[in-house]
Amino acid sequence: MSTKSTMMDYPLTLTNLVERLKTYYPGVEVVSRMPDKALHRTNYLDIHTRAKRLASALTKKGVKKGDCVATLMWNHYAHLEAYLGVPIMGGVLHTLNLRLSPEDIAYIANHANDKVLIIDDILLPLYEQFKNDVHFDEVIVVPLTGEAVSAEFTNYEDYLALGDEDFNYPAIDENDAAGMCYTSGTTGKPKGVVYSHRSTVLHSMTEAMVDTLGISQFDVVTPVVPMFHANAWGLAYTSVLVGAKQALPGPHLDAESLMDLYQSEQVTLSAGVPTIWMAIKQAREAEPNRWNTAPNMRMVVGGAAVPESLFRAFDAFDMKIIQAWGMTETGPLATVGLVKKSLSGIDKEAKYACRVKQGLALPFVDIRIVDEQGDALPWDGKTSGNAELRGPWITSSYHKNEGASDSFTEDGWLKTGDVCQIDQEGYVKLTDRTKDLVKSGGEWISSVDLENAIMGHPDVLEAAVIAVAHPKWDERPLAVIVVKDSKVITTNDIRQFLEGQFAKIWLPDAVETIDEIPKTSTGKFMKITLREQYKNWVWE
Ligand code: ADP
Repeated sequence: MSTKSTMMDYPLTLTNLVERLKTYYPGVEVVSRMPDKALHRTNYLDIHTRAKRLASALTKKGVKKGDCVATLMWNHYAHLEAYLGVPIMGGVLHTLNLRLSPEDIAYIANHANDKVLIIDDILLPLYEQFKNDVHFDEVIVVPLTGEAVSAEFTNYEDYLALGDEDFNYPAIDENDAAGMCYTSGTTGKPKGVVYSHRSTVLHSMTEAMVDTLGISQFDVVTPVVPMFHANAWGLAYTSVLVGAKQALPGPHLDAESLMDLYQSEQVTLSAGVPTIWMAIKQAREAEPNRWNTAPNMRMVVGGAAVPESLFRAFDAFDMKIIQAWGMTETGPLATVGLVKKSLSGIDKEAKYACRVKQGLALPFVDIRIVDEQGDALPWDGKTSGNAELRGPWITSSYHKNEGASDSFTEDGWLKTGDVCQIDQEGYVKLTDRTKDLVKSGGEWISSVDLENAIMGHPDVLEAAVIAVAHPKWDERPLAVIVVKDSKVITTNDIRQFLEGQFAKIWLPDAVETIDEIPKTSTGKFMKITLREQYKNWVWE
């Protein structure tokens, strides 16, 4: 017999997802919070129609297959329309990060050679700051405020009116580019990652699985993670695939607006970086009886390590944190931290110890840890090594091949830049980013473990631990903290609090209190800035 199967070679493209919206989920709502805080309501039939109109208008205006269409937008219905409308006409959706500096945005838009920009009207002041450094054939403005769009731009609604809702899809190969996102540049110059239709479809299917995020049409999904941060971790596409209602927060990411949205839409699954949940924790603790969220609400938390104290606090609110680990380069989900069936008998404390780990690799994602020579290390839960990944939604290069030599191995794995341990059950535990480890007297100290433990202190709001040069030990850990209610916390208080949890040599030698930990454009602690700030630190 021939080794060829009899199965059809049917492409995995986003057009299928767009068609399903009309056929199966036309009435499912998409809710968006507008700049004036009012809730805009539409449904998937409308999103389907408008996405096809957008695809048609782009085609009529000369956007070609493979051309990049940039967005500079918050999370709302029009961004979702672009998420669908751009790839189904063969274009590449390039989500620009509106929290970057105008110089970085211009650099990225030029590097990607973006042809068209779709932008929220409330973000035009940002555009003004880089418009002289870029060229777009057309700038399309979404009138979120309802105010008139200036004649130098195209009104998004007029643009859609040019398009035909019976748009015929061009032939699209599943490996064609569908989207593009630049790394946020926390650790260097931003680099472009290009997603394919196939990688996006497979990532969506896997993300929906019951044993990963378990997203279904019965869910109401709120990505707080911006749609410009690694495709909002795939949640917009996964929700479309399964027909889940979306409640999108627009520009309002403060704790009160989010809690109001969770309550009014009875959101069942939300996602974002830890700093968002720290703010929500404070708001809920300040007013414990104010909000009623949906029972068993799930919160996907990733982008940075999640302190154990956050799991405990949210369990008490009946909002269950699920940790996920990933990167712009990995589609982005690589692991999810659920307790597996064979461990379901372990006690409550052991379950927390399991949930604070980054979790198990998703199906089709291969992981290994290696030493400096690239030799594989054992999965014993003790040995730390550089984590490497491969799989159908893991990038195999950067746009224009930048950084290829340091980021990929000769046998084709992505070097994540994260240091991890893997235990015998397969749970990945991220020890640190390679660049953030503290090297003290020949031993590696995990800044992540220390800061997560410090954030368990009842009077500490935020904590970041950085390596600072030391004349005797090479480097020693310095803890930078933000305290609650102007409390005074000394180095000794923190050391005593940590004693017993860590070997003595791990304990930070100094604790500095500041007003706020600097954050990156995606809301993570910006340790690069802290390291710079404390580089001339003199140890006592
Ligand atoms: P950037 O690299 O600019 O921060 P990404 O958003 O792609 O942009 O960040 C990916 C990195 O975020 C990972 O390499 C890892 O260091 C960190 N990260 C993501 N998820 C987690 C997690 N659950 N725990 C710890 N670190 C995480």
